[in-house]
Amino acid sequence: MIEPSIIKNPPYPQNYATEFLLLDKGEGIYLFDADGNRYRDFAAGIAVNALGYGREDLAHIASEQMKKLIHVSNLYANKPAVELAKKMVASGDFAAVHFGNSGSEANEAALKYARIYGKRKKGPQCHHYLSFTGSFHGRTMGALAATATEKYREPYEPMAPGFHFSEYNNIKQLEETLTDEFCAVIVEPLQGEGGCTPMDKEFAAALNKICAEKDILIIADEVQAGMARCGEIYSSALSGLNADIVTLSKPLAGGLPLSATLIPAKVNDLVHLGDHGGTFGGGPVTTAVANFIWDTLTAKDFLADVKKKGDLLAAELEGIKADLGLKAHVVGAGLLRGLALEEEGQSAKIGEIIGKAQSKGMLILRAGSNVIRLAPPLIISEKEIKEGMALLKEAIKDVLTA
Ligand code: PLP
Repeated sequence: MIEPSIIKNPPYPQNYATEFLLLDKGEGIYLFDADGNRYRDFAAGIAVNALGYGREDLAHIASEQMKKLIHVSNLYANKPAVELAKKMVASGDFAAVHFGNSGSEANEAALKYARIYGKRKKGPQCHHYLSFTGSFHGRTMGALAATATEKYREPYEPMAPGFHFSEYNNIKQLEETLTDEFCAVIVEPLQGEGGCTPMDKEFAAALNKICAEKDILIIADEVQAGMARCGEIYSSALSGLNADIVTLSKPLAGGLPLSATLIPAKVNDLVHLGDHGGTFGGGPVTTAVANFIWDTLTAKDFLADVKKKGDLLAAELEGIKADLGLKAHVVGAGLLRGLALEEEGQSAKIGEIIGKAQSKGMLILRAGSNVIRLAPPLIISEKEIKEGMALLKEAIKDVLTA
């Protein structure tokens, strides 16, 4: 058992916890607390740190760029951002990329561009959005309005108007809800916070068809599942979803804040000067690092390696389930995986399991109400996956059979 280095009551707002593990440094997939205790990181700063910690290469790129040019605003262009934008645009049927600083901001931009498209192409009535149960699109007021889960929304109601929900993976409800007055559907091709739930292929096909018929944009929120986490550049490839607009963020700059909203020509053609903007998005330091991250994460071999390790992680979770006789199922894709506990009495103990894992030197996450979520750095080795899963098994066993 680890005696962790804990900080109590830091001057943070009360929406955060009152007690934190005080982390100090990292190396590879390991994090160290302020007392030097080591933790296997299966959380990666909530699916962010794709290349792990202690990276001399990232530190070198960032520090050289800081010395050269640190910030210019979007009144001017900078080389790393233009270079990155060109690569990103070439990754699909895109014409432009709007840079921001967070997943929420990427989705805000997507929602704004979609309204511009709907209203300027089809008329003012075409301003409605559809999103799905179990979704999480962020905590700013627009992204929040698109987030179905009541507990995130309720304290801030009334929400912005024009947002509607239907059940994820329910084709009938989709067909009943979507009309010509919708400008966009915003959807996670694999729901992260909601429970590592993948989109059904049939649902993706139905969504593609209705949206093409009614000229409704599909916004794929790839903030958590995109950029190699699921073994594909875009997780929409898993179900065959045809996204018009794609949002990315978490791993994009290796742990620095950066987001991207990729838009097609048919949208960009309707956007006017001054319609949207931001001070920090696409700064030279974050985009310099992101060029390196993009090149690394989108390489074929890297993606294949993530897929292979993701299969191992899923097999290990199946092993835990079988060995402990759990009523559960393995969810997710690639290196965004979860163990969904089916018995309420057990899922109520996920918080305890997370604490137990931490005391054994391992950091894990939860998703939805019943999922133990794992999102390690993508550079994790097969050996590290097996070692981690042995610890997770012990932690689950200790809590559920205590
Ligand atoms: N979209 C998805 C799918 C996410 O998982 C998240 C965060 O977890 C967000 C958007 C919001 O991102 P951020 O917290 O960077 O605003």
